[in-house]
Amino acid sequence: MNNLQKYEKYAIIILVAKKRRVYIILKRKIKYYTKETCKLFSIMAVASGIIIAIILLKYKPIYKVTLSGQEIGYVENETKLENRIQTEIIEMEGKNIDFVSLDDMPNYELKLVDRSQETNEEEIMIALKDNAKIMYKYYAVILNNETVGLVDNMEEAEQAVNQIKEENKSVNLDLMITQNYTEDISSINLESVQETQTKVEEKVEALIEQDEKTKKPILNGILLAVTPVEGRVTSRFGSVSSIRSSAHTGTDIACAKGTPIKVVASGTVTFAERNGSYGNLIKVDHGNGVETWYAHCTDLYGKVGENVNAGDVIATVGSTGNSTGNHLHIEIRVNGVAINPQKYLYK
Ligand SMILES: [Zn+2]
Repeated sequence: MNNLQKYEKYAIIILVAKKRRVYIILKRKIKYYTKETCKLFSIMAVASGIIIAIILLKYKPIYKVTLSGQEIGYVENETKLENRIQTEIIEMEGKNIDFVSLDDMPNYELKLVDRSQETNEEEIMIALKDNAKIMYKYYAVILNNETVGLVDNMEEAEQAVNQIKEENKSVNLDLMITQNYTEDISSINLESVQETQTKVEEKVEALIEQDEKTKKPILNGILLAVTPVEGRVTSRFGSVSSIRSSAHTGTDIACAKGTPIKVVASGTVTFAERNGSYGNLIKVDHGNGVETWYAHCTDLYGKVGENVNAGDVIATVGSTGNSTGNHLHIEIRVNGVAINPQKYLYK
């Protein structure tokens, strides 16, 4: 080994030793700084813990509840309140309630407040209930466009309406139920279905009676459209009297002398002259075996063979023949047999 080689060898040894020293120093430094950082973090963690503990000793996190921007209170649990709103308000069940709505839903804001701050979930619920819009439904029973009664039970009302319709099939009833809504059920005068049913039945009965009265009588297919004279019935069909030999064959209506007598239905005059106890008598044949006779007349206007229309004046009231005063004796004959005129006229 020459000198140069020796020198190189030492140089390398020195270089390696230097490098190693630098490495050791570096390693020591890193260790030191890591330790210091950890220490700092621990101190910070402990400090934050202490700060949080101090804060939590004095303050607590709760939800401030506002409704339409107005503070209405505090709750600890937002979800719990939301659930209560759903079950106790939105899904509120009760008589006549159709649906419940809230114009505004509450807003929540998580806040750190003084521990002494109390929550007031019950008050909030009351405020929300006050704010809730409750829509009630009720039913109106309507007969011929007139509301007869307001009820709260659709099923019962339907049963009652169907029953009335079933019992009065012959009458054309415009009877129906409508569903109505109100926010103020206390202002609606609800009654029981039974009460409404009774009122409807009374009205239907009155309608039928009215109908019967206004209904024009039909005899053997002949419409008896006109009342011959207006007046009081003084002697009924079939009555027995000392002034007659047999039972009364017509109806007598007291009337002033000269009152025009109108023919009850269209037809042909078959007789128009004086006839014993009938006095001045006019007979009109209406077809289908139906004939009407008008007796004790003063004047007879119709001529035999003449066609007359219902309502034509064919004679005037008088007291001719077997009569004790001015009156019309009207007789209705079917195939020649006298029937009671009051079945059709002067009911
Ligand atoms: Zn008579």
